[in-house]
Amino acid sequence: MAGKLTVVGFGPGSKGDMTLRAVEAIENADVVTGYTTYVNLMKEYFPDKKYKATGMMKEIERCRMAIEDASTGLSVAMISSGDSGIYGMAGIIYQLVDEMNADIELDVIPGVTAASAAASILGAPLMHDLAIISLSDLLTPYDLIMKRIDSAGAGDLIVCLYNPRSKTRREHLPEAVETLLKHRSPETPVGIVKNAGREGEVAIISTLGNMPYDEVDMFSIVIVGNSQTYVSDGKMITPRGYEVKK
Ligand code: SAH
Repeated sequence: MAGKLTVVGFGPGSKGDMTLRAVEAIENADVVTGYTTYVNLMKEYFPDKKYKATGMMKEIERCRMAIEDASTGLSVAMISSGDSGIYGMAGIIYQLVDEMNADIELDVIPGVTAASAAASILGAPLMHDLAIISLSDLLTPYDLIMKRIDSAGAGDLIVCLYNPRSKTRREHLPEAVETLLKHRSPETPVGIVKNAGREGEVAIISTLGNMPYDEVDMFSIVIVGNSQTYVSDGKMITPRGYEVKK
């Protein structure tokens, strides 16, 4: 009998931020597979499940293993943080299922992505058109990343920066900020949320001209407002355009 592989986005980290479908998929799985950090997180919420943690194993190997397990007839839940379809595992799983000619049922369950989780903590910064851009150049040429930042700046889009800064990659964020400053005032509000919905959550609101670089790491997301974004009472808000009386 053909098995089933469910790619589950479990949201930013807390159980409350998981969708009911994500919870059901994990509860119904024979085996839950994923990166060790995420497996440890899910173990807290679903202690009785059988887990297969894959440490620093390369993503492709991990996905192949999950597809092979499902091919034996098992029901496998492959977990990834946030939304598994946004810089997650859903795409590569589809590619590999094709390549391996695997006869399995495949399902993708969406989750709350880091941008929505962070936005709810900062206030309401994503009320208008936005661009989601990853600053990681592991799989994307650096010049293309900066071209996209520049276009988002020119289009006055709110910009959500994923993978904004790692120990070895410190120059991308300053360059992205410099590029956005070509189009936007230094007073433009910027929100940084580290560990949204997880232990160690920190939220900071600053400005594009005064970006607190040292506060930003790989567990953070940076949201740069558009030309209309403002800060009121410690919250970052982008107006949608409704007329409201004071
Ligand atoms: N699929 C995930 C994104 C994976 S890329 C999602 O939809 O959210 C990894 C990047 O996402 C991190 O470098 C960080 O920028 C962001 N991220 C993921 N979880 C986060 C969290 N809980 N708080 C803040 N940023 C987070």
